[in-house]
Amino acid sequence: MEHGELEMIFHRHGCEDFAWIKASEIETAQWVRMKCAYGCRSYGKKADCPPNAPSFEECVRFFSEYDHCVLFHFQTLVEDPGKRGVYTKEVNARLLKIEREVFLAGHPKAFLFYMDECRLCAECGGTPLKCLHPGMARPSPESFCVDVFSTVRKHGYPIEVLKDYRQEMHRYALLMVE
Ligand code: SF4
Repeated sequence: MEHGELEMIFHRHGCEDFAWIKASEIETAQWVRMKCAYGCRSYGKKADCPPNAPSFEECVRFFSEYDHCVLFHFQTLVEDPGKRGVYTKEVNARLLKIEREVFLAGHPKAFLFYMDECRLCAECGGTPLKCLHPGMARPSPESFCVDVFSTVRKHGYPIEVLKDYRQEMHRYALLMVE
């Protein structure tokens, strides 16, 4: 795989902080799905979130079909919780352009995981069949049972449970590439 050509795409869209990692180094865990099911207000309300997501076993099998992926790191401070979605929507729009260009560069298996749940629409259709932009909807790593904490820490990236909105956020997206 020619990383240099793809990295030029990442830079062109303002994504400078990333690492190539092995897909086998992505940590998946059943507890992540339980966090979605119990305690997340998006559960059952978003087209790309559980239970509208593959089973744990399907997620594990999906990652086993790749050798490598790109871990993107985004670091920012957004004190107004109401503006967090605006920030992640803008970043995810850039990531979607990257996925498209990587695909067109000859990587048909390119598949993006947004850095949080899909927020393209002011109000989500709620189910895959009612998704308003199915060509642009992408899951979050968590909706595919990725233990983001363990995955990024093993590559030396920072992540902590935030206690209030004055703390800096460290968010992560994944781009599966073959
Ligand atoms: S594109 Fe819109 S309707 Fe589809 S998953 Fe994203 S927010 Fe929901």
